Amino acid sequence: MKKIIAIVLAVAMIASVAVLAGCGNSNTDANKASDKPKLTMATNAYFPPYEYYEGDNIIGIDAEVAKAIADKLGMELEIVDIEFDSIITGVQTGKYDMGMAGMTVTDERKESVDFSDSYATGIQSVIVKNDSPITSVDDILAKDATYKVGVQLSTTGDIYIGDDYEKEGKDASLITRFQTGNDAVTALVSGKVDAVIIDNEPAKSYVAANEGLKVLDTEYVVEDYAICFAKNNTELKDKVNAALKELIADGSVKKIVDKYITAK
Ligand code: GLN
Repeated sequence: MKKIIAIVLAVAMIASVAVLAGCGNSNTDANKASDKPKLTMATNAYFPPYEYYEGDNIIGIDAEVAKAIADKLGMELEIVDIEFDSIITGVQTGKYDMGMAGMTVTDERKESVDFSDSYATGIQSVIVKNDSPITSVDDILAKDATYKVGVQLSTTGDIYIGDDYEKEGKDASLITRFQTGNDAVTALVSGKVDAVIIDNEPAKSYVAANEGLKVLDTEYVVEDYAICFAKNNTELKDKVNAALKELIADGSVKKIVDKYITAK
């Protein structure tokens, strides 16, 4: 009997040592993965096809280009979803290494952050209901027009239409600023606004996802998208630019764009 107990104990000990060893191994693996320096990217994940949720994952053109850049630099990408309006401050203060959010390069933003080379083009577009009398931005800006316009807070659509309303002497309260493009489109669907000014690719995605809407065949403003960095972080900016250049040259960026944007 004693012998049997001894054998059972011995087996149990070996088993537990094996389990512990197993744990040790997986810990080591996990540590190895996180040994890579982190590259944190701030975005606003409601901007399809550049960044949006698929289940719990943020996917899209920006997410994949950033991952390809991180891989080239031997870094581990971490995407953080915050409000668009907070991205520049977050990057400026060093909370995040970079901001990538279909972000347009503007002179005003350049005063706060540095931009990488451009990796995509955006066009400010207008979404209306199918039966809308609005056929162009000029209709919205016409002398006696009092159209209500929805925009995403602090985006270039917000800035340009705000400037134009002011120039035309229009009532600024006709513009409603939403936290996400999705909220602006929801307001259009429910008739709270008459038009939404937003980048062309998200515009197409929103129109595809909501019945009764169309994107006007009009280019309000054509702009460049780029990644932003804190002004003192030229080291990272230069590294990212070098990686981006290679990924553009070898067709990787185009492949990612084509995957998400079906050829017109
Ligand atoms: N391209 C626009 C801008 O930079 C909108 C970007 C966005 O909403 N994610 O302001």
